[in-house]
Amino acid sequence: MVWAGVPRPIQRGGPDWVRLSVLGCAGGATRTIIPGGDAGDLARLLCERGWAERNAGNISVDVTELAAIVREETDRHPLVPLGLAYPDMAGRVILISRSGARMRDVSRDPAGSMAAIEIAPDGSAYRALREAARPPTSEFCVHLRVHQSLRMRSAAQRAVVHTHPTELTALTQAQDYCEQAKLNDLLWGMHPEVKVFIPEGVGFVPYLRPASEELAEATAAAMEGHRVVVWEKHGAIAVGRGLAEAFDLIDTPNKSAKIYLLCRSAGLRPAGLTETELAELKEVEQFFKSLGDDA
Ligand SMILES: [Zn+2]
Repeated sequence: MVWAGVPRPIQRGGPDWVRLSVLGCAGGATRTIIPGGDAGDLARLLCERGWAERNAGNISVDVTELAAIVREETDRHPLVPLGLAYPDMAGRVILISRSGARMRDVSRDPAGSMAAIEIAPDGSAYRALREAARPPTSEFCVHLRVHQSLRMRSAAQRAVVHTHPTELTALTQAQDYCEQAKLNDLLWGMHPEVKVFIPEGVGFVPYLRPASEELAEATAAAMEGHRVVVWEKHGAIAVGRGLAEAFDLIDTPNKSAKIYLLCRSAGLRPAGLTETELAELKEVEQFFKSLGDDA
């Protein structure tokens, strides 16, 4: 099933409008304000959950329609080849966490933690929009592929979040749950809100080397039918209209995984929701859709 998001137009100059000056282009500001949530707030949440050990996790937001770019600044920085061409990303402006950046440092040091980049007109290189302290995350290729896939489908999502949700990742150590259908049956069955807010289920990508083109390709393919994808023995990645929405799409199924593992560790056999109980959740799903809270 292909999920279709509902575009939420951003008013030019409105509250969601982003000035790259907050990242230091024009100097001064201290916060990385991006639509749908603040990068510092999201990073704090990831740390609180225990999903951001060392430099784990990376985030990006396509701010092309939102960014007030200081062109004079951009011209000072050289183009860096991307290795692959991303034609649908030509000219896009992305805020993305830097290689080695700690989520716990984003609030304190947003400019040192997040890079602002612009993709070249032919999609084969990028340019830093401020001083190139550190390059984008090692998972840059994954973020680019996912963003490109979103643009090719004219999707509403602009934010990509990758993190290491502990319980969800733990499930993928069991071969039983390394099959997408079985994994979704488990996650839907442990809590009704997973079915309500992720009716299409989570996607699943078998283990592939982190930061590899293979992982990027498999993730972008899985994202065509899902908003959140679980990486075997590694973590999860989600897309949202903003960072908060992407976070929720990982947090919600992780709650199910946690309930399941808690039951098992207590010696309980979790019953799970019945087919009838799951079917009647369609009404709740429609209610939240009507509020524009989700799909
Ligand atoms: Zn990771």
